Amino acid sequence: MQAVVLEQHNGQTHAALQSVDPARLPPGNVTVDIDWSGLNYKDALAITGRGKIVRAFPMVPGIDFAGRVHHSEDPRFHVGQAVILTGWGVGEMHWGGMAEQARVTGDWLVPLPEGLDARRAMIIGTAGLTAMLCVMALQEGGVTPEAGPVLVSGASGGVGSTAVALLHALGYAVTAVSGRPQTYDYLRQLGASEILSRAELSAPGRPLEKQRWAGAVDTVGGQLLANVLAQSRYGGVVATCGLAGGADLPGSVMPFILRNVRLQGIDSVRAPAARRLSAWRQIIKILPHSFYKNVSSEIPLSDVILAASQLLANEIQGRTLVKVR
Ligand code: NDP
Repeated sequence: MQAVVLEQHNGQTHAALQSVDPARLPPGNVTVDIDWSGLNYKDALAITGRGKIVRAFPMVPGIDFAGRVHHSEDPRFHVGQAVILTGWGVGEMHWGGMAEQARVTGDWLVPLPEGLDARRAMIIGTAGLTAMLCVMALQEGGVTPEAGPVLVSGASGGVGSTAVALLHALGYAVTAVSGRPQTYDYLRQLGASEILSRAELSAPGRPLEKQRWAGAVDTVGGQLLANVLAQSRYGGVVATCGLAGGADLPGSVMPFILRNVRLQGIDSVRAPAARRLSAWRQIIKILPHSFYKNVSSEIPLSDVILAASQLLANEIQGRTLVKVR
């Protein structure tokens, strides 16, 4: 099979497309023929070696994939069944989706939900699932469309784009934050009614600022997240899932203790199966058909290594779909 393989020599990560004997696939009770994968921020960190993502070499990256069951020793899955996988350390600790086959444990697989095909599932991918988990956190925190505007940071990326589209479709007034003026038209198409430049929200601010946001989905972290918290309305909810701008949080407790603001962490990797399925079903219902056309570009497995560098250089907008077969 063809696979992107990561090896480490003298502390440096080397990525190459290789022919690999499927007998080398790791243990697992279900083997999947992969049709589509997606390039995520974490994949880009793994492939370029810029983040400590990979726990064991050699590694096949790819934290998500969609395909058909090739062989199964798990009674829940039969040969030919369409399945998707996101998270569970696949592409980090266990060979992942940037290959023509993967062998995994059946517990990590989700049967392809009705109303979705494999390609669309990977347009959504880990990024879209995470965006939906963020939106669910806002809803569960009582943030309704009537409560006021909601903000999405890193808006032109995979998670951000999907969050903008989901929130707009649910009737929220969405303010998108982006560092790239060339993406503003795209963000308006997805449903952003207001756009702020990343620079406007990146300077150190005061512990409490004018109250603006009823809710927020933050993919960036760092000073931007601290500022969003300081600008949150009384009772606002901020769902934080990413660190594209930094892993620190240089803020104060003031928004929490004086404005009852809630900071909700979001993890998609180990989200329980029932919550994942609920998120997938909601995504299918909420996202308009136009989303799938507007948000993705498609590359073959052979272009993944180049695209990983482009993603980290902030040169990619939306989702990068990997056509494996
Ligand atoms: P993308 O690269 O597609 O998007 C990230 C976006 O962040 C970019 O498009 C850009 O948006 C913005 N950005 C990039 N660099 C910087 C910077 N230096 N400072 C501020 N903003 C920046 O990544 P994904 O959407 O796939 O992932 C976003 C984040 O969410 C990542 O940190 C990822 O690790 C995390 N994540 C977490 C998950 C979880 O389970 N918790 C699951 C999936 C992702 P713009 O140009 O519009 O400003």
